[in-house]
Amino acid sequence: MSKILIVEDEESIADLEKDYLELSGFQVEVENTGDVGLKRALNEEFDLLILDLMLPNVDGFEICKKVRETKNTPIIMVSAKKDDIDKIRGLGLGADDYMTKPFSPSELVARVKAHMSRYERLIGSNSQENEMIEIRGIKIDKTARRVYVNDEEKTFTTKEFDLLTFLAQNPNHVFTKEELFNKIWDMESIGDIATVTVHIKKIREKIEYNTAKPQYIETIWGVGYRFKV
Ligand code: CA
Repeated sequence: MSKILIVEDEESIADLEKDYLELSGFQVEVENTGDVGLKRALNEEFDLLILDLMLPNVDGFEICKKVRETKNTPIIMVSAKKDDIDKIRGLGLGADDYMTKPFSPSELVARVKAHMSRYERLIGSNSQENEMIEIRGIKIDKTARRVYVNDEEKTFTTKEFDLLTFLAQNPNHVFTKEELFNKIWDMESIGDIATVTVHIKKIREKIEYNTAKPQYIETIWGVGYRFKV
């Protein structure tokens, strides 16, 4: 479960943020003073930090600067004053996002999710654990079974994912529909080679800029398909 640290001295705001984030499935810790928040942010592993700007003892500004010296944890800074946001943005402290209070909790949740998935992708693409295939703007995370087209995640069904991955793993190899059906669908599956056509169409709708002129999965008339690189 992803863990978030909120450093916020206004308890009602901290509680509201915590409630919404927990409802969205995050584990949330709250600190009300800057010095304790900084210590925890440096010494513990969090997946994201939400820092208020004006805090007792050490301000959010300083926390952000110190954390950035050693960590890439995504940071969202919040402040009641828009002027302050403009100021800190200008300083380039390395925060990933800024929000002016009051904001809707659902907007906070949306931004937290966006930053977290971007960070996970960043880590995922460098780690040994997630096996990735990257071809011209398409990223297939085989471990997490996720597909990104120009950094935007697309939802794939199991078979669509298997079919796309199989083709992308064997670039420029032409497969007949029969071969693909036998490879991706097991013997007990109900269906025939038309199933392959239907799935190719659905995959194209997700990855191709223009499905009439596919740039990735090419139809070889009378034979089958290939993933072009
Ligand atoms: Ca404050």
